[in-house]
Order: sequence, then structure tokens, then C-alpha cells
Amino acid sequence: MKDALLKSEWNKWLADPGSIRLVAVEAGDLLRQLIVQQGLRGLAQGGYAEAVVGSLLIASLHKSNESINMNAQGSGLFKQAIVDASPEGRVRGFFVEQLDAELQTYGIDGDNGPWGSGVLSILYTKNFEGKQPYKGMVAIATGYMDEAINDYYRDSEQLVSKVGLYIEFDGERLMHARGALIQVLGGATPAEVKAINELNIDQMRDLASLAHKPDAFLAQGKKLLGERTFQLLEQRPLEKFCTCSLERIERALVLTGEQDAMDALGEDPAVKVTCDFCRTEYHVPRERIKALFARDPSQLQ
Ligand SMILES: [Zn+2]
Repeated sequence: MKDALLKSEWNKWLADPGSIRLVAVEAGDLLRQLIVQQGLRGLAQGGYAEAVVGSLLIASLHKSNESINMNAQGSGLFKQAIVDASPEGRVRGFFVEQLDAELQTYGIDGDNGPWGSGVLSILYTKNFEGKQPYKGMVAIATGYMDEAINDYYRDSEQLVSKVGLYIEFDGERLMHARGALIQVLGGATPAEVKAINELNIDQMRDLASLAHKPDAFLAQGKKLLGERTFQLLEQRPLEKFCTCSLERIERALVLTGEQDAMDALGEDPAVKVTCDFCRTEYHVPRERIKALFARDPSQLQ
């Protein structure tokens, strides 16, 4: 099957008895839509895809309404990715390349991956504006996102988990964006825990490469885990979303203060604000800005 025709979806399985979770993410089509939206070219598409698929894998393990926010900061070709993903399979994210080669440490200190050395932080919230989020942080030590997520689960959550990402290009075009995750839950046998701990990144990336074929993925997963029985928990389509609105943009303008808002306006008839995530352009006319500051900001919703 041509990759372009593949549906973006995740498949989640649970071992019977329920001691191991297995997740396959196929997100090539979704990523190509997001890449157009973001206007990304070249290798930046791959860094962005790593962050989006990685965030979806993490979100897939969470309860309904418990969303995740990934903030990855690198020192190599990739400077930053910010991604929001939900257990309902919805995702948005933006990406910043390091365009100044002088500032890229990638390639200078040996065979580090394209993120260079950096920091990966993961925030869990009950919804996107939750009050008391859980935050975990880990170094991006090897320059590769999937290895950083593995370190994150080990160091920040003390969970035995293995993640692999499979991102492939055909020249300039992103062809595949897939991910695999295996996670131990309570009740796994010591032998199972040991088997999962010993899986290496190449085995996980090979497993991820099968994410578009759930049957083959599951067969390979079982092989790696000693032929356990698994049940399909969920097959869910993945989609992009955004929460921006004119109201939110106006609220943000009010929070920047009247002086800054008027400076941004300058001599123009309207302030133009572009959403970093979905690139929607909002225009707030001069008269509206004046009206916003003419009333009590705490009343604005
Ligand atoms: Zn938006």
C-alpha cells in the first residue's frame, strides 16, 4: 500500500494478563499536513516528526482529559519543538530550527544526533490549562529524541519503557513517521522486565517501522516479548487541532499591556498576530484595541 493512503492512527494493545502495554503510531499523512502548515523543509521535517510522534506515544498512555505538553530544546540542527498531544489522539506543535550554523554543536562533539545536547521536558495537565501539572525533565544526551524519551521514562517516571521512532525521507519529502512503545505495568514477571530492559534502540526502531501494519507490528512485538497474548485495546485515528481563537489573541494582547500593544500596532490599521501552532492569522483593528483597553481587563473572556 502506498504510504500516502495510510490512515494516521494508533493501535494500543494490552498483554493478557495486563502487565505490558504495546503502542504503534502511524502518523505519516498527519505529519505531512502539519509540515505544510508549519512551512518546514529539509531535515527540520524529521525533527518535527520526532517530536510529534514521540508526544503522541506518551499521550497514548494517559487517561482521558490528561493532556501532555512536550518542550524539547536542542543545541544542534534543531533548536526547539513544542507539542501538545491528548489521549484522544489530537496533536499540535511548532518547531524552530537552528539556522545559524555557528550555534550548532551537532557534529562538533562527535556522533551526537541532530538535537545535539539539550533538555526534554514533559508536562502533564488535566486539560491544556490545568492548574497543577506534573513536570518531568531529562537531558537529551545522545541527540536523538527516542533515546531521550527512554531516558525520560527511566529517570523521571521510573517506568520500564522502550520507545523507538522511525522517520524516513525520500529526498526532500518526509515518507514515514512511525513510533513504537513497550511499557511494563505492575504484574510483569522479572523475565519480562529483563527482556524489555534489554531491548536496544535498533530493535525498537525496527518495530516502529511496522506501525502501519498492526498485525505485523503485533507479531514482531510478541516475538520480542516471548510470545505473550495481547488484546487490542484501542484503534484511534490521529488528527491535528488547535485551541487558538480571536478571543485568546485579544486576551494575550491585553496581557502584554497597552503600551506594547500600541507599539505593535504602530501606524497600521490593525495588529496582525499569527498562531505559532496552526499559522492562522488574526487581525485586531485599531478601534478594537482601543476598546479592549478602555474597559476592565479582568472582565475579558
Ligand atoms: Zn492556532
